[in-house]
Amino acid sequence: MNISKSEQIIIKGISGSPGICIGKAYIVDKEGVNITKRYPVSDVQVSKEIDRFKQAVSKAKNDHAKVINSLDKDLGENLNILETHMVLFKDKMLYGKTIETISNDKINAEWALRKVSRKVKAIFQQIDDIYLQARANDIVQVSDKIMSYLVGAQDIKISDINKRVIIVAHDLSPADASQIQLERVKGFVTDRGGKDSHTSIIAKALRIPSVLGLGFAMISVENDDILIVDGSSGTLIINPDEDTLFEYEERMVRFEEYRAGLERESHLPAITKDGISLNLMANIELVEEVVAAKDYGAVGIGLFRTEFLYLDLKRFPTEDELLCKYKELVELMNPQSVTIRTLDINGDKVNPYLTTIEEANPALGLRAVRFCLENEDIFITQLKAIFRAAAFGNIKLLIPMISCVEEIIQVKQIMNKAILELEHEDKIFNGDIPLGVMIEVPSAVMIAEHLADHVDFFSIGTNDLIQYSMAIDRSNSQVAHLYQALNPAILKMIKMTYDAAKKKGVDLVMCGEMAGDPMNIPVLVGMGLTDFSMNSISIPVVKRMIRDLDTKKARKSVEKIMTLKCSQEISDFIIEEYRDILPFGETDE
Ligand code: PEP
Ligand code: MG
Repeated sequence: MNISKSEQIIIKGISGSPGICIGKAYIVDKEGVNITKRYPVSDVQVSKEIDRFKQAVSKAKNDHAKVINSLDKDLGENLNILETHMVLFKDKMLYGKTIETISNDKINAEWALRKVSRKVKAIFQQIDDIYLQARANDIVQVSDKIMSYLVGAQDIKISDINKRVIIVAHDLSPADASQIQLERVKGFVTDRGGKDSHTSIIAKALRIPSVLGLGFAMISVENDDILIVDGSSGTLIINPDEDTLFEYEERMVRFEEYRAGLERESHLPAITKDGISLNLMANIELVEEVVAAKDYGAVGIGLFRTEFLYLDLKRFPTEDELLCKYKELVELMNPQSVTIRTLDINGDKVNPYLTTIEEANPALGLRAVRFCLENEDIFITQLKAIFRAAAFGNIKLLIPMISCVEEIIQVKQIMNKAILELEHEDKIFNGDIPLGVMIEVPSAVMIAEHLADHVDFFSIGTNDLIQYSMAIDRSNSQVAHLYQALNPAILKMIKMTYDAAKKKGVDLVMCGEMAGDPMNIPVLVGMGLTDFSMNSISIPVVKRMIRDLDTKKARKSVEKIMTLKCSQEISDFIIEEYRDILPFGETDE
């Protein structure tokens, strides 16, 4: 594509978080290094390429040594990993082979390095040994470091950005997104990413507009280009013309006014038109989000995603560090409840310092409770911190990704061990807190009645339930059209979970992003759900929808909806029936 820079370009992506921002582009090259193959024609050029490679290695190695020297020597295992990387910079398989490839194939250093590192990675991965497979990961990380020096790409730290800009990146991991400094970054756009991915959840929590899954924003944007990010419709406009700029400036003002109006009402109770009282709680990732959750009218924290504290560190946090955070959170929320979900690491929430496993299908791998059951010491540390914090407030304990009864039985055994340790250590704690499981895997829906025998509550996690039921990766823009909360299959599973909870007398809450979309409220309330937890930013708009809703009408709608055959029919029906109360933008399409 050859585009003159002054030309306005409009690219459609996926809405990551609502709102509009206008500002200058700031490109952050994460994973998106563009490498081309070149053939040096003379021997002199070949030796220049070898010199370039050697210089890049030596710069990367020096910087790596500085990082190691600056770190705390108590990092144990994690320091070992970094020291292993130090050796790999000059490893024969990577260093020697790249030089050999430049000179034998007469190709540029970047291309040779990529060729060699891919080969080494493939060899390691074929070996049936988890330790050696993890080394493949180390090699990729070391070669990425060398590569960034070769191509001159700066390894920009998101937290260091100090201008009011819009970030443009090939991809941002949830951990990257959580580093964004609000006072500096107006919004962000990425080539990759899908609806309800963890990156979009973080963007909503930060309350900045974002568009994901743009496909080719990185190659279409240059630093300092003027961008319009319309996070509500999932649109990026590069170098807008005057008319467009004017139109979006007006739209931005209207959207902010609309949002301010909603927020002014956020303290009002979530009571339907016919007087049914519902509970709206907040999903948070960091303790710092509590203030916003309260401002938006949350009546508790329905989901605390504890993994972000781990993702931001280069080692596992200690029991006391966790206690300090949990205690602060429950004390801030007291007497309202805080549901603490145990570590849901891996899948798309990885930190190379914490886990080195390389999996072909991470979403189906050693994620969440599976990781905790394999790493009992890490799990016990977290459970002890939670029980200790429970002595200071109202905590519920939630276990993610449960897919069979054995897992919850094992979890309970480990909980008992944690309690015994605390008793033995004579610590103040409360081990008698409600226990719940996330219902986010189809098998959990099918065995919900059996799971109910072991727990006090269910929390339906629609983000993963949709991902695993529809077989679509929630961070993959290519299949985002299949991410359908209103698919009849998903609605049937929610109904089954509701019926199982009712029959067995366990509490039920929904904490997936589905609950934060006003379009879905008639069907959820109509089915009988009363407790919801969502991104704080969605609470005011969902509250307004609830206040305008009549539950008798919603129950009738559900009867009809459950006979419809596809998500389009269902959303058309909801728009038709609820047009007069659906908020801003929901009926535009
Ligand atoms: C979910 O899966 O719906 C959920 C709430 O958990 P997470 O988004 O953290 O996977
Ligand atoms: Mg989940």
